[in-house]
Amino acid sequence: MIPEIQYIKGIGPKRAAVLNKYGIKTFWELIEYFPHRYLDRTRILPLNNLSKDAEVTVIGKIEAAGVRRGRKPVFYLVISDGKGLLEAVWFNYANQYKTMFKVGEWVSLSGKVNFYRGFQMVHPDYDKLGDGDFENLINTGKIIPVYPGNEAFKKVGLNSYTFRKIFHFILSSHVQEIPEVLPESLYNQRNFLPRQESFRNIHSPLAEDSLARSIKRFKYEEFFFIQMMLALQRQHISKNELGYAFENPSVELEKLYHQLPFNMTKAQMRVVKEIRGDMKRPHPMNRILQGDVGSGKTLVAMMAMLIAIDNGYQVALMVPTEVLAEQHYYTISTFLKDMDVMVGLLTGNSTTSERKSLQDHLNSQDPLIVIGTHALIQEKVTFSKLGLVIIDEQHRFGVMQRSILLEKGIQAHVLIMTATPIPRTLALTIYGSLDVSTLDEMPPNRLPVQTYWRFEDKTEEIDAFVMERVDKGEQVFIVYPLVEESEKIDLKAATENYSHYKKDQFIRYKTALLHGQMKSEEKEKIMRDFSEGKIDILFSTTVIEVGVDVPNATIMVIEHAERFGLSQLHQLRGRVGRGLKKSYCILKTPYRISETAQKRLQIMTETSDGFQIAEEDLRIRGWGDFFGTRQSGLPVFKIANPVSDQSILQTARKDAFELIKNDPHLRKEENSQLKEYFIAHYKDKVKYFNIS
Ligand code: ADP
Ligand code: MG
Repeated sequence: MIPEIQYIKGIGPKRAAVLNKYGIKTFWELIEYFPHRYLDRTRILPLNNLSKDAEVTVIGKIEAAGVRRGRKPVFYLVISDGKGLLEAVWFNYANQYKTMFKVGEWVSLSGKVNFYRGFQMVHPDYDKLGDGDFENLINTGKIIPVYPGNEAFKKVGLNSYTFRKIFHFILSSHVQEIPEVLPESLYNQRNFLPRQESFRNIHSPLAEDSLARSIKRFKYEEFFFIQMMLALQRQHISKNELGYAFENPSVELEKLYHQLPFNMTKAQMRVVKEIRGDMKRPHPMNRILQGDVGSGKTLVAMMAMLIAIDNGYQVALMVPTEVLAEQHYYTISTFLKDMDVMVGLLTGNSTTSERKSLQDHLNSQDPLIVIGTHALIQEKVTFSKLGLVIIDEQHRFGVMQRSILLEKGIQAHVLIMTATPIPRTLALTIYGSLDVSTLDEMPPNRLPVQTYWRFEDKTEEIDAFVMERVDKGEQVFIVYPLVEESEKIDLKAATENYSHYKKDQFIRYKTALLHGQMKSEEKEKIMRDFSEGKIDILFSTTVIEVGVDVPNATIMVIEHAERFGLSQLHQLRGRVGRGLKKSYCILKTPYRISETAQKRLQIMTETSDGFQIAEEDLRIRGWGDFFGTRQSGLPVFKIANPVSDQSILQTARKDAFELIKNDPHLRKEENSQLKEYFIAHYKDKVKYFNIS
C-alpha cells in the first residue's frame, strides 16, 4: 500500500510538514522530486593506489576514531583495507560524528584525496557498512544523486543524504506499486525503460546510459502531459465553441490588395491565408501572430479586419497606449481612405459627441473598425456585432487571455500580435491552445540599424554625433534603464542627467523627459509632441519600448545598456530605423561589465534578426526568467527544460496530439492507466475537458 509521506522511513511529521509547504504532499509528488545533478563516485580504489586530488571511493575498516581538541574540535577516522591507511576528518559537528562510527566497523568514503602527513579526505561522503555489507551503498561507490534543497529543508535535516535514504527505502519497499502511465506501444516506440525501472535509475542509477534514458523518459512524460492538456483544450474549443463563419467573398480585402503601394511578402500572404481559413470556420479563431518589429503585422491585421467588415461585422483593435492607438488610426485610415469602410478612434481625448456617434454606430450593428486601448473591451463601449478582436503589441505572455473575452460572452475571432518571436515548438507550448502564425520575413529594402557598443569615455563624441544629426533635422532617443528594485535611484539619475544636458550640451535643442511615473496624459502628450517633431531629443525610460512609429527618429543612445535584457534592447532598437534614413543605435556601458552582459551587447552588434536574438536570450536567461514563468501562469517544469530539450518537446507534442486525435475521450483500454494518471495530476489545471 502507498503510505502517506509522513510514514515513509526517514520523513516523519516534521519533515512531512516542510515538504508539504513546498508542494510535495503525496507519495507521487515525492517520487518526482528529482535530483538536479549527479556525482560519479564509481571509481573505487584500494588504499595503496591513491594519488593527491583524485576523486575516488575507498572502502576500509575503522582502525581508530575520535575527537582532536583544538581551536575547533575535529572528528577523525582512520581506516585500513590491509593495503594502506587513510584518515578522514570533519571539522564541524564533532560530537555528532563521535557517536556515529565505531572502531571495527566497515565504511565506504567518497571524496577528493588530500595529502596531509598521509592520505586524507576532508568531509567525505560515507556509507556505513557494518561488518562488511557492501550491497547497500547509497552515498558512495556509485553514481550519486544530488537533490536540490533550500533553507527550510536544511533546518529539518532534509539534504541529499536524507533524500537518498528516503528513496532507498521507497525503491526497496514500494517500487512495485508504481504504475506504468504511458501506453505500452508508446514507450516501446520511444525506447524508454519501464516506469519502475526509470524511477530506480533516476534516484539510484546503476550506469550512465540507463540513467540518461530514464532522465529522458521523465522529461518526455512532463512535456507529454502538458501537450495532452493542450490537445484536449484545443479539441474542446474547436468542437464546442461557436463562432461566426465569415464566408462572404472579401471584396474590400481584394480592393486593398490591389491598391497596395508595395508587394506583400510571401510570409504576409501565407499568414493572411491562415487567418482567412480560420475565420471561415464556424468556430472562433484563436491565433497569435508573431513577427519581428517592422515585419508588417499591421497590414496583416488590416486584412483580417476587412474580412470581418466584408461579412457585416464590427472589429475592435486594441493597443497598449493611446498614442499607439492614434498612430494605428492614422495608418489604417490612410490605407483604407478610398474604400467604403468606417474607422473610429476612441481615446481619452475623444469628445463626448465623438463618443456618442461611435456608440450609435456600434449599437445599430454597422460594420466598422474601432481602435483604442484595452479599455475598449474592458469597460468603455459595447459592441452589438463584434466579429473580430485584435490585440496588438502583446509583450507580456499570457496576459490577455481568451478566457477574459469568454467571460464577457464574446464569441468573436481573436488575433493577438506580438513582436517577440520565439521558436515554433516553444511558441506552441507557451501560447497553449492558440494557433501560431509567424512572419519570418522582412519587407525588402530595409536599412538595418547600425549598432555600436561604446564605453562611457566616448560620451563627448556621442553627444557631438547626436547634435550633428539633430542639426540635420533628425530626432534622437536617449534611453535610461529603470529597473524595479532601484527605481528611485534610477529615476533620480535619469532626471539629473536630463536637467544637466538640458542646461548644458543640448541647450540649443528642444528636449523632454519621459518616464513611467508620469501621468498618462502627460506621457501621451510628450510622445505626441515627439512624433510630430516638436521635440528633438527625447530622454526616456523604457516606456518607449512599445511600438510608436517616428520615422524621423534615427538615433537611439542607450545608457547603461549592460542593464537591459537582450529582447528588450532589440525592442528598443526597433523604435529607430522606421523611415528611409540611415539609423544608428549606440549602446553605452561602463568599461567593466559582466561577461553575460558583454555577450548580450556583442549579439546586438552582430544581428538584427529578432528570432535569433530571442533564441540567444532564452539560452542566456533560461525559460523561467525569459517568460517570468511565475507571474504569467506558464507551466513550471520539474525536470524538463523547454529550451534545451526542444527535440524531446517536439516528439512529446506529436505523440500527445496524435493520441488525443485517435482517442479523444481516452476510452481505449490501452490508455486507461494514462487516463487515471492524467485525471489525478492534471485535472485541476484544465479548464475545459471532457474525458470521463
Ligand atoms: P510591425 O510588424 O512592427 O507592426 P508595421 O506593420 O508597422 O510593422 O510595418 C512596418 C512598415 O513596413 C510600415 O511602414 C508598413 O507600411 C511597411 N510594410 C508592411 N508590409 C510591407 C511590404 N510587404 N513591403 C514594404 N513595406 C511594407
Ligand atoms: Mg506594430
